[in-house]
Amino acid sequence: MTENISILGSTGSIGTQALEVCRALGIRVSALTANSSVDILEKQIREFKPEIAVLTEESAANELKGRISDLGTKVLCGMEGLCEAAAAKQADTVLTSVVGMVGLTPTLEAINAGKNIALANKETLVTGGSLVMKRAKEKNVKIYPVDSEHSAVFQCLQGCPDKKMLNRLILTASGGPFYGYSSEQLKSVTVEQALNHPNWSMGNKITIDSATMMNKGLEIIEAKWLFDMPIEKIDVVIHRESVVHSMIEYTDNSVIAQMGVPDMKIPIQYALTYPQRMSCPVEKLDLTKVGTLSFMKPDYDTFKCLNACKRSMKLGGTAPVLANGANEAAVKLFLDRKISFTDIGDIVWGAITDLPIEDIFDVDSIIKADKAAREYAVSYSR
Ligand code: MG
Repeated sequence: MTENISILGSTGSIGTQALEVCRALGIRVSALTANSSVDILEKQIREFKPEIAVLTEESAANELKGRISDLGTKVLCGMEGLCEAAAAKQADTVLTSVVGMVGLTPTLEAINAGKNIALANKETLVTGGSLVMKRAKEKNVKIYPVDSEHSAVFQCLQGCPDKKMLNRLILTASGGPFYGYSSEQLKSVTVEQALNHPNWSMGNKITIDSATMMNKGLEIIEAKWLFDMPIEKIDVVIHRESVVHSMIEYTDNSVIAQMGVPDMKIPIQYALTYPQRMSCPVEKLDLTKVGTLSFMKPDYDTFKCLNACKRSMKLGGTAPVLANGANEAAVKLFLDRKISFTDIGDIVWGAITDLPIEDIFDVDSIIKADKAAREYAVSYSR
């Protein structure tokens, strides 16, 4: 059970809900970080009184310093600040809920400092899974999933005596706003349509990732690392209602599912209270109101990103880093209206096909591949 936490990315959707959980359970807060949201962070600092606060942007950090000069909170900026927040002395757990690969270095820093990780940043494992899982084992640190699908698998696995008894993991996917669309129909979808997710309210990056199904591709890779499962044993089913958050299948073909209303507070809280269960301010699941649960096959041909992620794992080495970096850059280009929706899939697929794939030795080899993929995406848009 977490008693003291450092939250990397405290002003986003996961971060603010995590603070609600901390408030309800009396978890103390050692560090809070954000990109540039001075107003929200100041409010959070005044309530939770962390020792450290970080704004990645220097000018924003300077403004914050002036505003909270009456408090004892130390204000830092940049990656250095993030790493110091990740290693905050009193914290036993670090929640990483930043967006994108920027989470990798501070996560490794937190592991080095012996902190347990509540992981909401899937890009960390997608790019650096081999390094992160190895380091966590060496440091005897636990990684608790916050992503709803992985929390579901983790919950289903409680009581599983041996992973050898597992047939497969079955990740559910809502299918996003464009489920059932043809490639032709996808070509003309707008930013506004893509940002309109049917079931979950999330940040922009992950909402676009859900619309392209890149999100599910990243989650397959995340599951591979978290649960040490071969990629062939991780399946995806479309489940429009987002009530079953994922399932596991045992060798006797018995399937265990985890269900609940689609509210991230459940997986966030479980990652912080594990192995305890505590009351949580979310709606109860009323299956009679839901009525029907449906499950369909995903369309791997139309949703190229999903296919590209699977292929990247087969290619190995830096291929998943390339897929992720190309996607991060492509999503930004799409949100800036510089490329079309279907360009995202073409860019991700192109990056793992056209760019050289290397072995991963260290963080530098990951950063190098990530940079090449981002440049690839930008040159595609010109
Ligand atoms: Mg998810």
